Amino acid sequence: MSEIYQIAIDGPSGSGKSTLAKGVAKALNIMYLDTGAMYRTCGLAAIKKGIPFKDEQKVAELMNSMKLEIKFVDGKQLMILDGIDVTDSIRTPEVSIAASDISSLAVVRTKMVDMQREISKAQTFVLDGRDIASKVLPNAKYKFFLTASSSKRAERRLAELNSKGDFSQTYEEVLRDIEYRDKQDSSRANAPLIKVDEAVEICTDNINIEETLNTLLSYIDKSDIGA
Ligand code: C5P
Repeated sequence: MSEIYQIAIDGPSGSGKSTLAKGVAKALNIMYLDTGAMYRTCGLAAIKKGIPFKDEQKVAELMNSMKLEIKFVDGKQLMILDGIDVTDSIRTPEVSIAASDISSLAVVRTKMVDMQREISKAQTFVLDGRDIASKVLPNAKYKFFLTASSSKRAERRLAELNSKGDFSQTYEEVLRDIEYRDKQDSSRANAPLIKVDEAVEICTDNINIEETLNTLLSYIDKSDIGA
């Protein structure tokens, strides 16, 4: 049997993490775990129950009472909250902010990190997030850190929202949300977004996704392909 290993892809919102992680998963025939979707589901759960995102006591109770399930169906990651499929409804701008706010709480991070480690230990996985290499899987075999300017990331996020029929935000609003999340995700006390020394840093500003994917794959030992 092939060795089980993990690939960590960290970076700020809109840096191209999820597109690249999906590409890596496809090229290597491995599983992909989008950890942002987990924090988004926690954010949505708080919105649904009217719980303030930074109220530690109430969020702790929510973490105990909510049922979060992740299913992988035909290569797609489905997020199930209290029995309801919320895979699509966690992609709104409102949930993006809720996810960033709620993910600063230790009680949320501990639960999500435990789940992420549990899921990724049985099979080879590529995970994307903010703290995969620094906290969740410090022993991941490959570590990448993606960067891009906030303007480029806002352009991409707007295009992504528009492609899903969501025209609720202007470019300026998307940029403002990205800068809000950048600041909060990088400055929080619990597992802030940081690049670990050994991670390969790739700036995605001026290279397209295909080129970036090839760059990323060039770091991976070819004997791992098809694992
Ligand atoms: O990656 P995505 O934009 O879906 O993540 C939503 C939010 O979840 C981020 O802004 C961040 O605050 C949080 N997050 C995190 N740690 C991760 C992944 C996401 O704190 N590993």
